[in-house]
Amino acid sequence: MLTVEQFIDACRAKGLNVTYQRLLIYKTLARTKSHPTAESIYHEVKTEYPSISLATVYKTLETLAEHNLIQKVTPLHDLARYDGDTNPHHHLVCLECRKIVDVYDEHLNQLKMPEDKNFRIHGYRIQFEGICDECASKERVKSSTESVQQIQ
Ligand SMILES: [Zn+2]
Ligand SMILES: [Zn+2]
Repeated sequence: MLTVEQFIDACRAKGLNVTYQRLLIYKTLARTKSHPTAESIYHEVKTEYPSISLATVYKTLETLAEHNLIQKVTPLHDLARYDGDTNPHHHLVCLECRKIVDVYDEHLNQLKMPEDKNFRIHGYRIQFEGICDECASKERVKSSTESVQQIQ
C-alpha cells in the first residue's frame, strides 16, 4: 500500500492531478482490506464530502485503476471490486458472501508462464474460490436446525 505522500508522488509521475476528491477516495480505499465496491466507497466518502456523486467515485476509481495506482478485482465476473494494494498478491473469494481475502504467497508469484508466441503475458492473478468460515458455520447451523425439524 502506498502512503499518502507516495500516492501523491505516483500521481504526479503519471501526470494525474492530485485533487482533494482523488486523495479522499484513495485514502478511503487504502484503509480497508475489504476490497469494497464503488458504491460502498461512495457511502464512506460521502460522510466527509457530502456533495460527491457516485459517478465521480466510480470514474476516479477507474482512472486510478487504469494508472495502476489501485487494482480492480472482479470476482466471478459481477460487480467490480477495488483493492488499494497493488503489490503482487492473490485472492480467496467466498462464493456465498463474496468476501475477498488477500493471499500473500511467494510461490504463487513465481509460476511458470504459458508460452504463446502470439500473446504477451503481463501478469496474472489467482482467485481461489470457496466458502469462508463465517458462511460455513451458518450452513452448519442451518443444516442442524433442518435435521432437528426432520426429527420432530
Ligand atoms: Zn462467506
Ligand atoms: Zn487484495
